[in-house]
Amino acid sequence: MRDLNGDAMGVPMQQNIPAGDFPILLVEDNPVSRRVLEKSLAKAGYDVTAVENGQEALGAFQSRFFPIVLSDWLMPEMDGLELCKAVRKMSLPGYIFFVLLTAKDSKNDIIQGLNAGADDYLTKPVLQAELMARIRTGVRILELEKSLKTAVEKIEVLSVTDPLTECYNRRYLNEQLPQEIKRARRYRRALSLILCDIDHFKKINDTYGHAAGDLALKAIVRRLTASIRKGIDWISRMGGEEFVLVLPETEFRFALKTAERLRQKIASKPVDLADTHLFVTLSFGVTGFNADTLKKDISPDKMISKADHYLYEAKKSGRNRVLGDVF
Ligand code: GH3
Ligand code: MG
Ligand code: MG
Ligand code: MG
Repeated sequence: MRDLNGDAMGVPMQQNIPAGDFPILLVEDNPVSRRVLEKSLAKAGYDVTAVENGQEALGAFQSRFFPIVLSDWLMPEMDGLELCKAVRKMSLPGYIFFVLLTAKDSKNDIIQGLNAGADDYLTKPVLQAELMARIRTGVRILELEKSLKTAVEKIEVLSVTDPLTECYNRRYLNEQLPQEIKRARRYRRALSLILCDIDHFKKINDTYGHAAGDLALKAIVRRLTASIRKGIDWISRMGGEEFVLVLPETEFRFALKTAERLRQKIASKPVDLADTHLFVTLSFGVTGFNADTLKKDISPDKMISKADHYLYEAKKSGRNRVLGDVF
């Protein structure tokens, strides 16, 4: 029966849409209709799960998300209209394209169905070609939703990323440091912060040019990033050639050791620039607290200004060194 694909009706099948990406929940109490619809959809390449009524449909959502629901209207237990209303109230990972199947086709019924949140309806007996066309409409909408989501996710990442070094930017620091402090306080854990600044960076720019300076910045961030705990510690560009490293669950004394390790690592190996190798050093200001024993109040500003104070002292006392103090 070629009409399942719409071919016999002269409607070309859209081969480019991966049908299996959007599983369908078919809700129909009549066993014969259920089997016929299930077979047609499966034959067209859709991943179909069939259930008998609205209650069972809600149960199916407990274990899996279905972006397409094709539901009969009249069913025992819970009908299609109630199911549609219930689904619209649920908090789900994505949009559901909801199609009502109905023998009712008066204008009022249709309006009632659409008002309950249905996206579309099909009148029984269902014409296969029409069913496929309606489902494809849903797939197009879901594809659009998917690409919008991807775009939003990309924008979200970009909004907290420093374009040159690709570490986090200051905005991320402003958003996340308060959260890290809150978390440390709630679970009575330690939290440390390292502020570092490249020594005599202006001289690098002046001697080798701004482009070489950019390369050096990138290389240093790459090395810092590679030397901290992946997925736990994070690094953010404060501005210019100054960076903050946030070390959750880390006692101050270990943060001090980490900073010393980073200092040595950067200072011991030159940065490769286009036509030269350049020894670069960093100065560090470190601070931290342990919420289990801390009496005073703490804030992001307090942490940063304490680290900044020690960074300044490290610069004053000769650069390429680590200084700090605990709260
Ligand atoms: P100090 O050891 O005291 O930190 O000296 P410094 O020269 O590193 O500090 P200063 O604040 O005098 O100069 C920082 C320089 O960093 C000046 C600025 O042009 C440069 N800089 C800031 N952002 C960038 C960047 O994105 N790319 C490049 N190439 N240079 C940058
Ligand atoms: Mg029925
Ligand atoms: Mg500097
Ligand atoms: Mg600076």
